[in-house]
Amino acid sequence: MKKSYDVAVFHGDGIGPEIMAPTLEILRQLSRGSPSYELVFTDAPAGAGHYVKTGDSFPAGSLETARNADAILLSAMGLPDVRYPDGTEISPQIDLRKQLGLFAGVRPVKVSSRQMTPLALPPGKEIDFVLIRESTEGLFFTQGAGEVTEHEARETLLITREVSEKLFRFAFELAQNRKRTGRGRGRVTCVDKANVFRAFAFFRSIFDAEAANHPDLQADHAYVDATALWMVQKPWEFDVLVTENMFGDILSDLGAGLMGGLGLAPSADIGLDHAVFQPCHGSAPDIAGQGIANPFAMILSAAMMLEWLGLTHDHPELSSDGARLREAVEKATENGQNLTRDLGGTAGTRDAASSVLEALRV
Ligand code: ATP
Repeated sequence: MKKSYDVAVFHGDGIGPEIMAPTLEILRQLSRGSPSYELVFTDAPAGAGHYVKTGDSFPAGSLETARNADAILLSAMGLPDVRYPDGTEISPQIDLRKQLGLFAGVRPVKVSSRQMTPLALPPGKEIDFVLIRESTEGLFFTQGAGEVTEHEARETLLITREVSEKLFRFAFELAQNRKRTGRGRGRVTCVDKANVFRAFAFFRSIFDAEAANHPDLQADHAYVDATALWMVQKPWEFDVLVTENMFGDILSDLGAGLMGGLGLAPSADIGLDHAVFQPCHGSAPDIAGQGIANPFAMILSAAMMLEWLGLTHDHPELSSDGARLREAVEKATENGQNLTRDLGGTAGTRDAASSVLEALRV
């Protein structure tokens, strides 16, 4: 009998539904073809469009659907013109992060030697590292609640032992898994600014304590400014990078830049019991409704979901289907025939997604 997995689906705003539809179609095909697993999708209405229709941006029922699911697939959400009365943007994805304790923002950066990148990769070098961004505290701790007077503004950076311990444990486990599957050398780098801020010296000391539990892995440190330089000069040397929220926010866009833009950048927000998979880009209202959005980041996020489900449920076929799906997107971008406009091509969303399905069949 097939093992069944419940997936909560947030279709999103703007281009969100346009890139979610072909992604679900691909997942349904994989699920139909699998002898061992079945994916069951449940819609969770939320977002800016839903707010306009109903006055509620994130119904309690949708949070429940997410909480009860084995995994959460979320498309780009929010619209710049739709805001709460206090002027803040509608972002159920941030509510989910807080409500479900999703402390690890996982941003893979992968460029094969045949894919486009703004860098000239030396022969034989490929980029394949993962940036882990702490996602519940750091310099985002006072987000929306900083103090501003006429003369000064203050925000608070918070780093707790509890979250940092979970974060670093997660980073080392990921590195272990990458090493086991031949994708990484088993190296974890703590990215901080421990030479200037006591908070980062604290962060680093917690990292060192966790590193001591993993003598089979290599652990080192890098300052965030140097990391930005090395991400451009020698990104192939990284394996797993782990850092504070704001540093991670900035470095992950640099990582997306190495991959040729946000259209190829997937992400996951992972906690102890739940995980959300979503593209790094926003809802791109400027191109919504035209059928030209790039679906690859959404499809790659779905591939990450399969790999994560497989790992956490000890279900190797799910993990290998996740890897197959990721490789199919790589093949589709390498052959370059069905690229969307943001990647320099002329294809629409549907043709780009079809080329992934074709690559899956080969
Ligand atoms: P947010 O703050 O919600 O992350 P943003 O301000 O970063 O959003 P996006 O919505 O990501 O903005 O869009 C930035 C630019 O990238 C826009 O010109 C948009 O059309 C383009 N873009 C974003 N995602 C895609 C995509 N999947 N396919 C094609 N173009 C995209």
